[in-house]
Amino acid sequence: MRTLIIAPNWIGDAVMAQPLLKLLRAAKPDQHIVALAPAWVAPVLHAMPEIDRVFATQLAHGKLQWRARRDFASALRREHFTHAFVLPNSLKSALIPWLAGIPKRIGYQGEMRWGLLNHRLAPPDPAMPMARRYLALAGELGIKLPATLQIPRLQVSADDMFAVREQFGLETGTPLFALCPGAEFGPAKRWPSAHYAQLANLLLEQHPTARILLLGGPGDAAIAEQIRTQTRHPEQLLQLAGQTTLAQAIALLATVDAVVSNDSGLMHVAAALQKPQAAIFGSSDPRHTPPLSSKAEILWLHTQCSPCFARTCPLGHLRCLNDLTPASVATAVGLALAGASHAPGAL
Ligand code: SF4
Repeated sequence: MRTLIIAPNWIGDAVMAQPLLKLLRAAKPDQHIVALAPAWVAPVLHAMPEIDRVFATQLAHGKLQWRARRDFASALRREHFTHAFVLPNSLKSALIPWLAGIPKRIGYQGEMRWGLLNHRLAPPDPAMPMARRYLALAGELGIKLPATLQIPRLQVSADDMFAVREQFGLETGTPLFALCPGAEFGPAKRWPSAHYAQLANLLLEQHPTARILLLGGPGDAAIAEQIRTQTRHPEQLLQLAGQTTLAQAIALLATVDAVVSNDSGLMHVAAALQKPQAAIFGSSDPRHTPPLSSKAEILWLHTQCSPCFARTCPLGHLRCLNDLTPASVATAVGLALAGASHAPGAL
């Protein structure tokens, strides 16, 4: 059996697909599993031991790029895949396995994919947790779906952790926190920067020798710098948003003591690294995309208007995030560090 996984386009979704990969691997341990993923997601898949090989593509999000897909498909023909799991719902994501002539092409019906997929599942219940949604695809091979999910686990080598610590001048022996203030989806998922700055002050009061890393993509750099300069001890914060590759950010998260993030890709990465974490939810729903970790504290005010799943607050007040206090997040960090968190919910 040779399996091609067309990976999701979002970092968090890729992490939530790992229980499916674990199930496929356990069902047939000697199969060859290859993931095809956009370059910006590929480092997450590289950290999954269930995957034998990752092909990183330069295919742009939302673009057809017919010629590039056709060329990729003809290269994949030589790999003689027997199965393809198409995890995104778009029509274009199903093109490559179809063009490559892979006999079994499995996925949700999605966007008019009648001919492209020959094993199609009806659209799932929108309330179904994302990880379960991916896992259900294995049922098309007759694999029994487990009652309890095997949670994601990313692997980072000790060498890689040592290398990033060296590279960014982080001494061992001092408490290290990571704040991830971005959320690519939109501002309705971003806790205010003034709150992050206040949280940093509280963490530094409790851990006076700590260093705090600000992690994220290039689009988060301005917010991260704002947070750094708003704190009482900016010299103890290291602004690294936009300054690292994703592989470096994963290795840095693997080395820290605790992580605070919005509902974002890095939240799922931190969960899969089993880091004590505080995960902040605004317009989204932690029952749908929770951090899959027993070390996560979820902070969700669940205001009357939530979840609205909007990118920007339609009511203009963003109370779901503005009303969440830095003190409550600092308390959650303390609980997560003390190992007092609960098991992953809704699964
Ligand atoms: S409508 Fe409510 S849940 Fe949605 S972003 Fe605004 S405050 Fe948050």
